[in-house]
Amino acid sequence: MRSSSGRSPSATASACTATVAAHTSALSGADYIRLEDEAGARMHCEHCEASIHFGPLVAGVRDQGDPALDDRTLNKLSWYHTSPYEDWPSPDYERDVQVAFSTSPARTLMGDPERYLRNQLDKALPLGTYEAAIENMYRRMSDQRLAHSAFYLHRARINIATDRVNRGFHDENEQPAADISITELTDLDLDAVRYLNVR
Ligand SMILES: [Zn+2]
Repeated sequence: MRSSSGRSPSATASACTATVAAHTSALSGADYIRLEDEAGARMHCEHCEASIHFGPLVAGVRDQGDPALDDRTLNKLSWYHTSPYEDWPSPDYERDVQVAFSTSPARTLMGDPERYLRNQLDKALPLGTYEAAIENMYRRMSDQRLAHSAFYLHRARINIATDRVNRGFHDENEQPAADISITELTDLDLDAVRYLNVR
């Protein structure tokens, strides 16, 4: 599940990417826009004298007091999922994944097509706060050329034991998060992972 984010690194000094990704700031979207010029949006590298420009994917939790962060509210809140698909898992999604795969110029790099397809169809359902789900929709409209798609807003209730969710949250820049598969969840011996949704 995702929490609403400020923002964490898109353009970084290559040798130091991991360092930046390991740090998140409490920067809000408005702060980022204010800082985003030649002199702003930079942090010092821990390993050398250089400073590193951080992009809009450098994110922090915007509101540390958000009740949605409390595991005791997991099963009491409504959670949201925005999608161009009316249902999940949609038979249309499976067909679209197969079509995209068969026409992708990168398919020779993907190795075993059956394994790739199985993996794509084994994704856990991403759920978020209302705000995070809506922001995610806007990002997909902008970044995945879905500006003219219809989107469906799904509201879900969940029933997950608090000891079946990870502690803290995954950083989407370096850990499986929105794209986590049910197999990966099972390997972690969890039913859900919390993550900060930045892309
Ligand atoms: Zn450095």
